Amino acid sequence: MHRVWSLILAALCLAAAGSDGIRKFQLGDTEVIAIQDAVNAMPVSIFHGGKIRTAAKTVPASVNVFLVRNGNDWIMIDAGYGGKRGALAAKLRRLNIRPEAVRTILLTHTHFDHVGGLTENGKPCFPNAKIYLSKPEYAFGTGGEPSGAILKTCEKQLVRFRFGETPVPGITARAAAGHTPGHTVFESGNLRFIGDLIHGAALQFADPAICARYDQDVKQATAARRAVLKEAADSSALILGAHLPFPGIGYVHVAPGKKDDGTARGASFLFLPYDETPGAGKTLP
Ligand SMILES: [Zn+2]
Repeated sequence: MHRVWSLILAALCLAAAGSDGIRKFQLGDTEVIAIQDAVNAMPVSIFHGGKIRTAAKTVPASVNVFLVRNGNDWIMIDAGYGGKRGALAAKLRRLNIRPEAVRTILLTHTHFDHVGGLTENGKPCFPNAKIYLSKPEYAFGTGGEPSGAILKTCEKQLVRFRFGETPVPGITARAAAGHTPGHTVFESGNLRFIGDLIHGAALQFADPAICARYDQDVKQATAARRAVLKEAADSSALILGAHLPFPGIGYVHVAPGKKDDGTARGASFLFLPYDETPGAGKTLP
C-alpha cells in the first residue's frame, strides 16, 4: 500500500478509537465541538458512477453535528436524526449545553438525518434558535415528508437566505446544490461545513464522480463536490462533513500526480483527518 494511504488509514482508525462520540477542537480562533448523532456505515451498493474500487460491502461513515461557540451561546450545523435513532440530545446534556443556549441553527439541507433532531413529539427542541436554510431548500423541504411536518413545527423560527448571503456574521452560505436543490456549504474563515457533499469518504475523495443514490441531481452534485473540494485544497481549508467518519474534520489535497487538468474527469483528492499536532495535515506526508 502506498505510504500516504497507510498513513491516512492509520489516522482514520486513530480518530475513531476510544471516542465517545464527542470531540472538542480549537480550530484557530474557533471553538468547535463534533457530536456523533449516530454511528453509520454506508453500503457500497448505494454508490454509482465513477470507478468504485473496493471489495467491501460497506464504507465507514457517521452522522455528525457540529457546534461552534458564539460568545455565550452556540451555532449548530444540522440537527441529526433526533428521536430514538439519534444521540444529539443526550450528548448535549453530557456537555451541559442546554438546548436553550443554541441560538442559531444552520441547515445544509432538509433530509431527515439533518432535521430530525429539530423536533420531539411535535415540539421544537431548540426553542430559542433561529433556523436558517436556503430559499430553494425551504421550497424542497416543505414539499416533502417528514421534513415538511418538521419545518412546519418550527415555522416561526425559520429564516430563509439566498446563496452568497451571510446568514450569521462571519459565516457565508455557498451554493452546493445537487444533493438537494438548496444544499448549502457554510464557510467560516478557513472552515467549510460541507453537509452531504461526501457520503463515502473511502470512495468519493478518490473519485468525486461517484454519487450516493441520495444525490438528486448527479451532474450538479458531482460539480459541487469537485468545486468545493478543489477550493478547500487550494486554500488549505478544513472541511467538516456530516457523514465523514467521526469526528468528520480534515484537510483535502489534490492527489499526487493527479493534478486538476480542467477536464470533466478533473482531479482525484485525498482526505487527511484533522490531527491536533500544529501544522499536521496541511501538507501531504
Ligand atoms: Zn445526510
